Amino acid sequence: MTDTIVELKNIRYAYEDKIALKDVNLSIPRGAFLGLVGPNGGGKTTLIKLLLGVLTPQHGSIELFGTPANKFKDWQKIGFVSQKANAFNRGFPATVKEVVATGLTAQIGYLKFFTKKHREKVKEAIELVGMSEYINQNIGDLSGGQQQRIFIARALVSEPEFLILDEPTVGIDTENVQKFYELLGKLNHEKKITLLLVSHDIGTMTSHANGVACLNKEIHFHGDTEAFHNLSEQRISSFYGH
Ligand code: ATP
Repeated sequence: MTDTIVELKNIRYAYEDKIALKDVNLSIPRGAFLGLVGPNGGGKTTLIKLLLGVLTPQHGSIELFGTPANKFKDWQKIGFVSQKANAFNRGFPATVKEVVATGLTAQIGYLKFFTKKHREKVKEAIELVGMSEYINQNIGDLSGGQQQRIFIARALVSEPEFLILDEPTVGIDTENVQKFYELLGKLNHEKKITLLLVSHDIGTMTSHANGVACLNKEIHFHGDTEAFHNLSEQRISSFYGH
């Protein structure tokens, strides 16, 4: 079992002639809870797309779980949660249980083919995010924060070892953001899931994550949260091109 979940070396990615990432090096060890910050347009989403296999770098190498990305087969080890608060409107005809089950349909096929074991996994994932009492409720009737927990459950049902979250707390009220971070801490500590979290809310993120990486086309800083807090404001501003 490798101790490095992600190893990016000298990554370059350009959209036609627009360079989004140049010479990006980043290593994420197993067990990390890494916050990824940077200015708008700094390349965070591009980096996530490279990790999810949606984009291929034009230069450099990506290893996932110690395997070159182009030979990597265990994609179920990588879960993804995007910015989706209130994605479902009121009345959307799907229950919490059904939405979470879709996290397994890629592997299993139609819901009717689910065995007792698969249905148990769905129940457990919903329990883990503290939403058991809503299991049969219509997803559209839940708040943005509650829906976001359900999306985490959907990502967890295939038992990922690495979870990527792209600004998952946007549009969620402060109290629920706090609960959301507590849940992430629990997944990291108790379930040993390695986390990569993109967030613009640096204050909240750094009080929960154990590492920070600043991306603005290149990685300008990567270290533990304490080292990040010790940086001068001027230095942090410089990562943002100010
Ligand atoms: P934000 O915080 O605003 O979501 P980001 O850090 O995720 O930004 P990216 O979305 O990765 O940044 O964008 C990096 C750069 O690449 C930006 O200059 C953006 O305009 C450009 N870009 C992103 N997607 C495309 C695309 N499909 N075609 C052309 N340019 C793109």
